[in-house]
Order: sequence, then structure tokens, then C-alpha cells
Amino acid sequence: MQWLDIGTNLTHASFERDRAAVIERARAAGVAQMLITGASVSSSAAAVQLARTYPRTLYATAGVHPHNAAEFSAEDLPVLRALLSQPEVVAVGECGLDYYRDYSARAAQLQAFEWQLQLAAEAGKPLFLHQRDAHEDFLAVLRNHRRAFAAGVAHCFTAGAAELEAYLELGLSIGVTGWICDERRGGHLASVVGLIPPERLLLETDAPYLLPRDLSAKPKSRRNEPMYLPHIGAAVARARGQSVEECARLTTLHARALFQLPDPP
Ligand SMILES: [Zn+2]
Repeated sequence: MQWLDIGTNLTHASFERDRAAVIERARAAGVAQMLITGASVSSSAAAVQLARTYPRTLYATAGVHPHNAAEFSAEDLPVLRALLSQPEVVAVGECGLDYYRDYSARAAQLQAFEWQLQLAAEAGKPLFLHQRDAHEDFLAVLRNHRRAFAAGVAHCFTAGAAELEAYLELGLSIGVTGWICDERRGGHLASVVGLIPPERLLLETDAPYLLPRDLSAKPKSRRNEPMYLPHIGAAVARARGQSVEECARLTTLHARALFQLPDPP
């Protein structure tokens, strides 16, 4: 079985000491390819660097997370544009809106999001989208720029059927994380995940965040790793009433198609 983790934060400091071992463990668990999320201009550059050291296994996204929107200015656009032209970069983001934390002013978040939609149109690459507590504005921006993007993924989807329907209508794919393994916070996801058409369903760990809550042996560090993706896939398969093999096959196939990845080595 082969899996594809569309959301890892492998440049995160918590992987500094054993990054190569983390990647090897993931591959040994069947996670054949991984996307490294860029969250700022500098972390996107780092993600590209790391991806280059694992050809056809690691890929990167390049973009500015809404948390970092305040430090993103027009002067950064050429740098981000250059990163987006690299072959290792397969999506624009993560970008979007986060009104839950409001780490950056909302006006700055909206500006950063609009800029990245323009860059996505130029680059012809899909969007890697983040949204929290900003559903209405997020939808309005995407609907206004419907022609700027051909495809994208609403990453770490944790909402209900209404939001799902709006995203599907926009042509977006849906990224499901280990939230589904958390009975307290993610119980509703079991039914919502069943509503995602197979060609729109993608899996992600969001490592080192979101360690699946129901792992039988949890690491002491509480750090999530891409090797736990099959565990999430098994929960998703259960929720959808499909076999684990079918879930692995389809989510991997569709992730590869969306991000236009070649087969792994
Ligand atoms: Zn996110």
C-alpha cells in the first residue's frame, strides 16, 4: 500500500535533530511521498531546499500563512513568485484566513490572500488553503477569484456538511487530518467525511501538529509524524465504509493528480 501525506511541516524545529529518520520511518510505513508546507517566504524557501534533497519523494508548497500576513509585503512578491516557478513547488500556500487567532490584522490577511490568488493564476498551480473562523470572508474571496485557480485543497478540514458543500462547489479537494481520530473534537467528521466524493478526498498528518489522539502507543514527545498517516487513513476508511487498501489507493492517486506528481522512486 502506498500513501501520500499532503501536509507535513517537516522544516519545523522539532524535526531538527532527526529529520532523516522521520522521513525514513514514513517511507517504511508506506508513505511514499510528502508535501512540505511553506508558511512564510523564508519557510517556503527552506521547504524547497529540503524537497530538493529527496527528489520525487518530497515536494513543497510556497506561500504565506494568514498568521504571517502582517510581515508579508509587496516587496516579497518577486521572491515568492520565483519560488513558485521551481519544479519542487506544487501548490501556492498555505494561504487563506484565520480569524480564530487573529495573529495578523484581518486587512493584512485579506491582502496576502488576494496576492497569493494572483500568484496562483500566474503560476497555474493549485491552492493549499487554510481557513479558521473566517468561512464567510474566505468563500467571498474565493468566489471573487474563481477564475484565478484551477484547483486546490481546503487543508485540515474540520467543519460540517454546509462548509463542505461550499468547498466542493468551488471545485476544491478536502484534506482530512487526525482530527477524525479525536472522539471529542472530531466525532462529527466521521459522518461528514462520508460525503466527500472519492476524487476530492486527500489525507494529511499536519505533523508535528495534530497527533492522532487514539494511537495505541503515543510518543512521549507528543510530536506527530508522517508515519502515522496510515493510521488516519484507516479511520477515514472506517468512516467511509471502504477498505484501507481502497482508501490508500484512491487518496494517493488523486493527490498525485492534483499536485501533478510523478511516481515515487
Ligand atoms: Zn493550516
